[in-house]
Amino acid sequence: LRAAFPYFAAIDERAAAGAAAALAPAYLDSAATSQRPLAVLDAEREFLAHSNAAVHRGTSGAVGAATGAFEGARSLVAEFVGAATPEQIVWAENATDALNLVTLGIAEANLGNGVAGSERFALGAGDEILITQAEHHANLIPWQRLATKTGATLTYIPVREDGTWTIDDARAAITERTRFFAFAHVSNVTGFVAPVAELVELARAVGAVTVLDACQSVPHIPVNFAELGVDFAAFSGHKMLGPNGIGVLYGTPEMLSALPAARTGGSAITRVTMETAEFMPPPLRFEAGTQPVSQVVGLGAAVGFLTKIGMDRIAAREHELVERLVAGIEELPGVRLLGPSDTSQRIALTSVAVEGLHAHDLGQYLDEQGVLVRVGHHCAQPLHRALGMASSTRASVHVTTTEDEVDRFLAAVRGAQQYFGMEVSA
Ligand code: PMP
Repeated sequence: LRAAFPYFAAIDERAAAGAAAALAPAYLDSAATSQRPLAVLDAEREFLAHSNAAVHRGTSGAVGAATGAFEGARSLVAEFVGAATPEQIVWAENATDALNLVTLGIAEANLGNGVAGSERFALGAGDEILITQAEHHANLIPWQRLATKTGATLTYIPVREDGTWTIDDARAAITERTRFFAFAHVSNVTGFVAPVAELVELARAVGAVTVLDACQSVPHIPVNFAELGVDFAAFSGHKMLGPNGIGVLYGTPEMLSALPAARTGGSAITRVTMETAEFMPPPLRFEAGTQPVSQVVGLGAAVGFLTKIGMDRIAAREHELVERLVAGIEELPGVRLLGPSDTSQRIALTSVAVEGLHAHDLGQYLDEQGVLVRVGHHCAQPLHRALGMASSTRASVHVTTTEDEVDRFLAAVRGAQQYFGMEVSA
């Protein structure tokens, strides 16, 4: 499989040629961004070389072909995440942008720039927006802004000692005044998997709209938004073997048609006068301006690649890797695993804090050993604060990860403890 990725093929070639293992990087940072298979790079290149054109405008055959590729990718992505129709898939720049499309759209609805059905999003003093303390800043700051704009109150589910939270914690935090409930499917720090369907049920009971940050789930496990019952969901192409610069906002037809466009301009309209504009139905209403067509085509190819392997197989393979990581970490004295030790409650990544060792020192040592991980707060400062630390070290996997890479990470953490003179009894 690694041979299908130019990035890994080059590393493996070097290793096979006898280069020192430390020089062949162990890429354990797919949670930040994943490497792209040749199928994706080829699809982008092929499109740009032979079919490049701006979509949905003009009458030429070239535009028709580009539009076909663009809309074809939308259908593939829709099917991949269980959307009933392609119109439920809105292109955005990334997950951050997709989440902002929701919060900025709600703000527009409350500023009087609504569309039919926007009353659904009325928000004001006394209303509550519920999130969790474990959110990535992308699913926190946009809600802070929306609360400030509308006078609503931002409330949150606090995390427990291990960074997780339960359905009972959610039950205690949700109220009759909760209008929106936004949470990550999978935490990018703890790997904890939220019980989405049950949470949606809680939200529905109080009439709250649900917004799922699916950044760390869609690339790794089978995800069906319709079955989960969420109203909106967001994810990024670059974490699922696809291109940068393309993300997805999923919405139910009811929600998307009631949401005003946060960004306006060309392409997204039906009739414009000097005073007014009328907008297209979703998804085109949200896609003002010239679109990133080659990225969309690349994302379609990434979905095709993942589907060909099978998301069930990918999930099973990554589960083995995470079990190996968790078991290895738990054997290391002085190393604290963030998130649940029960591997049935987590996927895709592990973060650790090493007693007496700053994450950046550890990161630098790992880097010198050729082990590529992520150190810092991972855009989740409140979560780290709740866990009693400023930063942590995260190793994340994808379907290309090998046991050897996992073992090199574990050995290098141990090596760092020795290098920095930690007194840890084995
Ligand atoms: N949410 C989560 C859980 C993430 O892991 C990330 C990426 N680190 C984001 C949101 C933001 O994704 P992007 O930077 O692609 O917009």
